Amino acid sequence: MQERRKTRQVIVGDDRVGYVKIGGDAPVSVQTMNAGFTYDIDACVAEINRYADAGADMVRVAVPERKDTEALRHILPQVKVPVVADVHFHYQRALEAVEAGVHKIRLNPGNISDRDQVLKVIDACKERKIPIRIGVNEGSIIERRDKQRRAEELGMYFEGHKSGHLLALMIAKLEEYLEIFAERDFHDVVISAKSMDATLCIDAYTEISKRFDHPLHLGVTHAGPKSTGTIRSTIALGTLLANGIGDTIRLSYASDHIDEVKDGLEILYCLGRRERKGVELIACPTCGRIQVDLFTLVKEVEAKLAKEVSLPIKVAVMGCIVNGPGEAEGADVAVFAGDRRGIIYVQGQKVANVPEEEILDRLLLECTTFQDKVRRGEAKLGEKSVEIVPPDPIGELGSGVDKIRKGLVEKVTVGGR
Ligand code: SF4
Repeated sequence: MQERRKTRQVIVGDDRVGYVKIGGDAPVSVQTMNAGFTYDIDACVAEINRYADAGADMVRVAVPERKDTEALRHILPQVKVPVVADVHFHYQRALEAVEAGVHKIRLNPGNISDRDQVLKVIDACKERKIPIRIGVNEGSIIERRDKQRRAEELGMYFEGHKSGHLLALMIAKLEEYLEIFAERDFHDVVISAKSMDATLCIDAYTEISKRFDHPLHLGVTHAGPKSTGTIRSTIALGTLLANGIGDTIRLSYASDHIDEVKDGLEILYCLGRRERKGVELIACPTCGRIQVDLFTLVKEVEAKLAKEVSLPIKVAVMGCIVNGPGEAEGADVAVFAGDRRGIIYVQGQKVANVPEEEILDRLLLECTTFQDKVRRGEAKLGEKSVEIVPPDPIGELGSGVDKIRKGLVEKVTVGGR
């Protein structure tokens, strides 16, 4: 893991919804975009607040028509998080959204024909201290009006996709766009450079992070259905975030956008880029040693704990005694199965041995009781009172620790320590 790259910081929000900082020392934020129509005011508010409740730090909405920006006036006073207006082609929509009090604008200068129109949007945002995200996304940087230029750029794209021509084009466009903002001394700019190709995303954001100090909005665009989109997105965003690159993220799946929020947060939790909220659930994949219906149990535990536990308690649900004790030792609350029963531990202490049909209720009870104790200051997350020693499977050959003690294993250095 590399340290986070230091960037400028932009601030999105207002006194009512609160402020989300992007870049600088702010935690990496998670966003998604509404799937419904913005002009459908009640549905739009409900959708934004649903994502907010799931953990989204801000939500973007499309404003293709005047009725959408008009709806913003009614939407903004009812939402729980800052709202970003997504503008394409019509600079007037951006001006109307700014006038309505939107918190951030997403704009591709390449999609607006007249430079003066772009300058008008920049001036309006500058006056109200509204940040703008600009994109040099793979799908939108190829010239659309000038036929000769389009042919040249498409030539670059198809010939040179793998050899960096597209990347060079992205950087060149970005420099062009940023010049327009510099002309107005406007620096509250967030940059995105999305592609549906995970490797291109990694290369593009890495290159941009070396050249510009603006905060970066990471995303793999049009990542596909959740089944493959998760993998595509996690590979690109996980690599970049582990390398210290990225200040706000949006996953984009062809599925319920609540998944984008949940998966985005999980990526950040796993990489330590955000403090976990809610349970961290560990579960075994099951095998021929399984002793209970573990898949059903895990599903039920996950759903119930999401509602009842808000502290980052580590909970392990294991199918048998082979890996059960090891996970029980590392988790705050754990159950491992044995002969259609569940043996439950809290911070290393065995607290119950119940039949399979009682596992769920008893585990939930232990989790909520433990959460109450932590809240009262009677227990601390991540502490354990006893060690559960598993049998040494290596026998006479000696354990790994023995080898380290005898100096047979080289010392591993982590981060210069
Ligand atoms: S904990 Fe037991 S059942 Fe689960 S995968 Fe490991 S060995 Fe198999």
